[in-house]
Amino acid sequence: MVDVRGVHKSFGALTVLDGVDLQVRHGEVTVLLGPSGSGKSTLLRLINHLERADRGFISVGGELMGYRRAGDRLHELKEREILKQRTKIGFVFQNFNLFGHLTVLENVVEAPISAQRRSRAEAETKARELLARVGLAEKAGEYPRRLSGGQQQRVAIARALALEPDVLLFDEPTSALDPELVGEVLEVIRDLAKAGTTMVVVTHELGFAREVADAVVFLDEGRVVEQGTPAEVLDHPRHARTRAFVEKVL
Ligand code: ATP
Ligand code: MG
Repeated sequence: MVDVRGVHKSFGALTVLDGVDLQVRHGEVTVLLGPSGSGKSTLLRLINHLERADRGFISVGGELMGYRRAGDRLHELKEREILKQRTKIGFVFQNFNLFGHLTVLENVVEAPISAQRRSRAEAETKARELLARVGLAEKAGEYPRRLSGGQQQRVAIARALALEPDVLLFDEPTSALDPELVGEVLEVIRDLAKAGTTMVVVTHELGFAREVADAVVFLDEGRVVEQGTPAEVLDHPRHARTRAFVEKVL
């Protein structure tokens, strides 16, 4: 579903990703771990083509992100085409990034109406279903500032699901939350996993990773140091750097 091949990315003299390969299969949950600055967010942004790789390729659902093949040449897609590709990928950020001037319902229907040209009626029906799914049916008419962080993040998840993406990317979805609100957001992600949603989740919640992840990938200094099942990577890490990281996070 997500195929990252030999991806390099530098910002000026700083090499952030140094030949990353990552495969995420349909219906699986991959948890991405790594110390601060190891390149986790950059990798998610590359998958979404919010950043462009210096070398290597990324495809999502069999489609090369950002480019079109013509014979053996590659042509960069136009912004409009890239936006269309991006509707296949849901992105949930650490800080929710809801539109503050829109109600919860308007936040969820915005993209389906503007990017997918759905009718308002159809988009609203779907949005209400999704809000019920994340436990927020009652909050459709509220503004984000009147919600808790955990509720805002659940709206952000509903909004990401509204485009019926092939894959959902989460960048530390619970790290801006008060500890007592972490559980309700992880619960929603856990339900999505049970329903077979393909996801890549950057998180330091190792308990969650153990329970939900099909694969755990440990990134350090822009390289995949180790990957495997949660039991392999978290309980029996083969590399000293993975071991040190897991011990520190626990
Ligand atoms: P954290 O756990 O702190 O979120 P991370 O693993 O997500 O870290 P990235 O955000 O991917 O790390 O950043 C990796 C490195 O790339 C960092 O040193 C960061 O400062 C640098 N970096 C990221 N984006 C840019 C940019 N647009 N311009 C310059 N440097 C950048
Ligand atoms: Mg990050």
